[in-house]
Amino acid sequence: MSTNIIYAVIIVLILIIIFSQISYGYTPELFLEHFCSQKIDYYDFDNTVMYFKSPKTVPAISSVCFIAGVHGNEPAGTEMLMDLLKSDYFDQQSMKCQVNIRVIPAVNKWGLEYGQRYQPDLAYPDINRNFQGEGLEPTSAKIIELTQNYDLVVDFHEGWGFHLINPTSVGSTVLPGRTPQSLTIANLAMNHINKNICDPRKKFIVMKNNSCEIPKTLSCYREQQKKHYVLVETSGQNDIQPLETRKSQVLSVIQMTFFYILHYYFKMGDPSHKIYRR
Ligand SMILES: [Zn+2]
Repeated sequence: MSTNIIYAVIIVLILIIIFSQISYGYTPELFLEHFCSQKIDYYDFDNTVMYFKSPKTVPAISSVCFIAGVHGNEPAGTEMLMDLLKSDYFDQQSMKCQVNIRVIPAVNKWGLEYGQRYQPDLAYPDINRNFQGEGLEPTSAKIIELTQNYDLVVDFHEGWGFHLINPTSVGSTVLPGRTPQSLTIANLAMNHINKNICDPRKKFIVMKNNSCEIPKTLSCYREQQKKHYVLVETSGQNDIQPLETRKSQVLSVIQMTFFYILHYYFKMGDPSHKIYRR
């Protein structure tokens, strides 16, 4: 009789292990496609060389993650990143700028397919309100995991209007995190985009906001981690302007991010964080 009880206990334990594995097996990868271009060996090697060549300077940014499609009705970032992933653009930039790159082009795949802001999660539909702790649901948790080791995150969204026409819309703004690097990249991106905008009311501005004005956003999360972050809001919801225009603005931001990484260095341990051009 006691042997039977022992057998029963063993079977129950095995069942618990099997079921716990099944639940762990669920992963939000379904919603994410990521492309990782990490030149770890090259990067380490180059770091060593740089140390001997120029011990007082280090790259301001040595890894960057581009992320788009958190809101499914804001597709310009996704479309541009997808196009670039079909080419060897990121491989080229990774080598040229000696930087680790991660691209997460289509976070909310369901939303992107159906043109919906939210993800199909009744409790936590807005992914960009779930960045708290380790993430309130699997998608935000996965993004936290994928971005946490990256110096800089560039996050592409789209607003419904033009900020200079409708100040209540964030459309056509760049919103940097509160680090000097974030602000410099935002200014470079704004100036580059504005060269191609003729209508002064549709020009981009850099908006220095409180990153945690809306809590539990990726912006607020990066702020709390004291990490570099740039939020880009093209004017795009409801196709307020052509997709190609918005995609070219996304491309401008990406180009200026690599321009910054390539050309701007800072002195190690310099609290004033002066920018030096190489
Ligand atoms: Zn958005």
